[in-house]
Amino acid sequence: MSKYTREFLSTMTVDQYAMGACDRDNYCYRIEVEQAEMGNIRGTMAGVRRYGVWYNKKSNDYECTKKYGNDPQEAFFVVKTEILNLLDSGETDKYVAIQKNRLAPLFKYKLLAMYYPHKFLTIYSKDHLSYFCYKAGIPAVDGDDELVMQRKLLQWKETQAEAREMSLIKFSRYLYKQFDHPPKRVWASKTRPKLKELKDDLQDFDAKHPKKTLTEVERVQRSEKVAAYVKERAAGICELCGKLTPFYNKSGEPYLECHHIVWIARDGADEINNAVALCPNCHRKMHILDESSDVEILK
Ligand SMILES: [Zn+2]
Ligand SMILES: [Zn+2]
Repeated sequence: MSKYTREFLSTMTVDQYAMGACDRDNYCYRIEVEQAEMGNIRGTMAGVRRYGVWYNKKSNDYECTKKYGNDPQEAFFVVKTEILNLLDSGETDKYVAIQKNRLAPLFKYKLLAMYYPHKFLTIYSKDHLSYFCYKAGIPAVDGDDELVMQRKLLQWKETQAEAREMSLIKFSRYLYKQFDHPPKRVWASKTRPKLKELKDDLQDFDAKHPKKTLTEVERVQRSEKVAAYVKERAAGICELCGKLTPFYNKSGEPYLECHHIVWIARDGADEINNAVALCPNCHRKMHILDESSDVEILK
């Protein structure tokens, strides 16, 4: 890796850069594979597209993402400029410039960690960073990007006697050891046939003109007094799971729902000895599962 100095990069040609061109002797390949100990970005998401320009061995030609230009030469120039700018911004701690840098996030943050291992963590995935922030009890703000979350974790590191003296590479490993790997999310619909099937089904659905049906139902009048009493009795605590209500209503009262242990529909009595106050989750659970063990608890 040591040959890839700033000087080298500034005169680098597209075949020295692109994946698939000079077999393994190219910048992208070296970044992706040979620095695996710096955090693996292999086989994730965008694959080669993440590097903007690559060599397609089937068509024997360079290809590029439209994001950086109309042809591979143009795209390569933009990518190379962005890499050089990124290295400048990393060296001088220009965070806004780092955030605005147009390189793909995984590529961007791996480069920063490789060139400035004492400043940037070797954790690049947004999912992983937000998972570690959550586990470390760091308040997450919607819209925090990779850099912000890295900064927050570095601040947290200073407060941890155990981690304070660690190098950042060691600290990154420590997070995985301490909190384990974040659960995997599978978004890609191609690996989720069921999701794709459901989406295909939606094509026949006319969202602007949904079908309407009219049903006549007989409703039993329930006593509002019974409901009010059991909610007051529960004082905000669900009588099944024992947890505090998940939210308060607009008047600031704890939100719970009244449920009849023996359902009214099954001739249960509408009285306080047959009624409980439940959080919405538990209420739904009772109506979907109606497990006898839960009924016992409520009784
Ligand atoms: Zn509950
Ligand atoms: Zn109910």
